[in-house]
Amino acid sequence: MRCTKKIIYTENLRNNINEIKKNMKAGVKLCCAVKADGYGNDGINTAKIAEEMGASYLAIATVSEGIELRQNNVKCDLLLLSPCCPEEFQELIENDITPLVFDEETIKLLNNQAKKTGKDCQSVFLAVDTGMGRIGCYPEEAGQMAEKITASSNLKLSGMITHFAVSDSISSENIKFTNEQYKKFMQAVSNVKEKGIDPGIKTCSASAAAIAIPEFQLDMIRPGIILYGYYADEVTKEYLNKKNIQLNLKPVMQFETAVAAIRHFTPGQTISYGRTWKCEKETEIAVLPVGYADGLLRRNSPGLNVTINGKPYPVVGRICMDQCMIDIGLNNKDVKRWDKAIIFGPKDKGSLFDAEDIARMTNTISYEIMTSISKRVEKIFL
Ligand SMILES: *Cc1c(COP(=O)(O)O)cnc(C)c1O
Repeated sequence: MRCTKKIIYTENLRNNINEIKKNMKAGVKLCCAVKADGYGNDGINTAKIAEEMGASYLAIATVSEGIELRQNNVKCDLLLLSPCCPEEFQELIENDITPLVFDEETIKLLNNQAKKTGKDCQSVFLAVDTGMGRIGCYPEEAGQMAEKITASSNLKLSGMITHFAVSDSISSENIKFTNEQYKKFMQAVSNVKEKGIDPGIKTCSASAAAIAIPEFQLDMIRPGIILYGYYADEVTKEYLNKKNIQLNLKPVMQFETAVAAIRHFTPGQTISYGRTWKCEKETEIAVLPVGYADGLLRRNSPGLNVTINGKPYPVVGRICMDQCMIDIGLNNKDVKRWDKAIIFGPKDKGSLFDAEDIARMTNTISYEIMTSISKRVEKIFL
């Protein structure tokens, strides 16, 4: 196997699910977001562990993700969070995937396809846009949409869902907005009930709100990022502790490579494309077989440091597609050829940096750092 790889610490995933369960109110269902290959941490492995640890639903983003889970014998209910096109409806139905619907056209097309496929009772969730500005009907349309669903011969309304836009922020203005979104969702639920229709499973909270606002757990929470060991933006461990909420997360993924060569450089020599780094004093440069095609973001050169045997070393020169170089200094007794070089990972496993640290320097969130690692980087499960 290539030395550039992801280590998946399965025990940390289990730890995180247990931590989430400790914070769930009695009777609340768990829907684990395993979309985007489990945020890069492996969708199938995460799905299997989540299923075994009591998840009722798994959340996916594409029909093909659902098919892959079914082919791997995952039996859980699957909730498709993103829209798919009508061409995919048949596969969606055959693979028992529950889509989010919010308009008449989709309800009609889906019902027709369910009829054609011979499925009497295709589950759907009604999506309500309470302020995310993404998918969903408006709260005042919810009653009418629920009627359309229940009037469809082959569809069943299994739940209602909304999504918060700023629940990961701790500013009072944003907390106010989240409260308003919740109120609108409850209004939509009442509108459905007023039509004499059972709204099914009501769910509004992803990671941030699920933990920080237990009152909003309703019938089901939908954590994603916290499964993989990272807090949702400003809803950090410190913030939660202040609210007397304990959640001890451990990063699941380690992204690592190895020192493929060590080469001597003298003043005046330059490194990599664009010659952005010039050797000022004699040094040793280590070559790492990892580049932006693996998900090591090119814009992090300069700036990125990698950990070798507990010490940080800076990337010098531009990160290339498949390689990058680091300065290890002269007479470095700590770094040998083929030593492990960790880009990020759990800090108690030897890395000085986790995905959150990389995200901060990249001006993004840990989600993007983990999902940016490309397919050619293989995984090892520990
Ligand atoms: C991705 C997603 C989640 C999970 O979000 P996290 O912030 O990772 O917990 C939950 N619900 C919806 C609708 C999503 O798109």
